[in-house]
Amino acid sequence: MNIFDAVILGAGASGMWCAHTAAARGLSVCLVDHAKRPGKKIRIAGGGKCNFTNLEVTHADYVSRNPHFVKSALARFSPWHMVEFLSKHDIAWEEREHSQLFCQRSSDELATAIEDTCSMHGVEWRLRHAISGITHTDGLFTVATDNGPIKGRNLVVALGGPAWPQAGATDFGHRIAKQFGHAIVAPYPALAPFAMPKGWALEGLSGIAVPATIECGEKRFTENLLFTHTGISGPVVLHASCRWKKDMPIVIDFLPSSQIEQELKEAGGKPLVRTVLGRLLPDRLVAGLLPAALADKQVAQLSRQDLDHLTQRVHSFTVTPARTEGMKRAEVTGGGVDTDGISSKTMESKRLKGLYFTGEVLDVTGQLGGFNLHWAWASGQAAGIALAESAESIKA
Ligand SMILES: Cc1cc2nc3c(=O)[nH]c(=O)nc-3n(C[C@H](O)[C@H](O)[C@H](O)COP(=O)(O)OP(=O)(O)OC[C@H]3O[C@@H](n4cnc5c(N)ncnc54)[C@H](O)[C@@H]3O)c2cc1C
Repeated sequence: MNIFDAVILGAGASGMWCAHTAAARGLSVCLVDHAKRPGKKIRIAGGGKCNFTNLEVTHADYVSRNPHFVKSALARFSPWHMVEFLSKHDIAWEEREHSQLFCQRSSDELATAIEDTCSMHGVEWRLRHAISGITHTDGLFTVATDNGPIKGRNLVVALGGPAWPQAGATDFGHRIAKQFGHAIVAPYPALAPFAMPKGWALEGLSGIAVPATIECGEKRFTENLLFTHTGISGPVVLHASCRWKKDMPIVIDFLPSSQIEQELKEAGGKPLVRTVLGRLLPDRLVAGLLPAALADKQVAQLSRQDLDHLTQRVHSFTVTPARTEGMKRAEVTGGGVDTDGISSKTMESKRLKGLYFTGEVLDVTGQLGGFNLHWAWASGQAAGIALAESAESIKA
């Protein structure tokens, strides 16, 4: 039976990037996945346009028990590596706000270009393979599948996490890590909408979108907020969800770029509070934020207490989400394989030589803005290079 230099589990962003990096350096590589097409999440990312990197990426854009872990891989893989790759494959891209880079036409182009690059370097595909288990004996890894065993001198686990299961995501990567003695930082849904408690003050505003600031766990994010049937979503909420823990209150500022007291002062004494606020916020939101008795007062009638109450409701609206919408609606999995057990330079396990973990399966969670795909490429490349260097040193 063929023994591959590297068997990579997961033909997603990280697995494919690792595969072509190692194969381009002469290694025999096999990519195994239960999906019928590789790169499903690349194809659906960013609404089909895929926010593939961010020009301002630094370690501060990631949540992990060890915030320094990502530094080495990031230092060796800049956003310009991706720009160069896209340019080489004639894939048009554009920069959007906050230095986010997106495909201009479709993320299918990027997924297909990576797939083609793997094939060009001789990567062998084992798609539609259900994996039933992994064993390691005499320095060889054996992957048991419904189409027979696959053997490799090295094994890369690039299986992502359980978020967004409708794209084929599972927790199998975490289970393999546990099998080989790795600790798992408890997985949680990240970049997910919040479900709000039944009967909360702003219920029934579904469809309204406003710019807002959310303070969550000592971090502040400002972006658009969208009311949904069950709670709130939008970029600002997805950001906050990465820092949120159960029962933690969040503080929302619905007018992040002005001060309500100043606006009222400038409006003069005659207009109703409702009229002044209606110029700044959607009427239905104003009705949810303020009791009618306060909204129907003229500005001149407001007491100090009224003004404080108004300021608190508009600028510091405090609420405790019931929960996030869960793994089904989460764009990424927070937590994962504890980075304590992994080399930050090579992504190799410190417990078992030849075993590697890359991408989202690790306890590395990027904020919204292209950071998760960037991590998938960067960690995939670090492992691909390390595999090639290790093969070289064995030959020498
Ligand atoms: C809707 C959505 C939009 C997103 N948009 C963006 C964005 O614009 N920018 C950004 O940076 N990030 C985005 N992300 C996150 C990003 O897609 C992921 O973080 C990234 O794809 C992780 O790469 P990975 O290679 O680690 O895992 P994945 O890309 O998830 O790849 C894992 C692979 O493993 C396979 N697999 C899993 N379990 C098994 C099993 N048991 N047996 C066999 N195969 C298995 C899967 O089929 C998959 O091919 C988005 C995610 C979602 C869900």
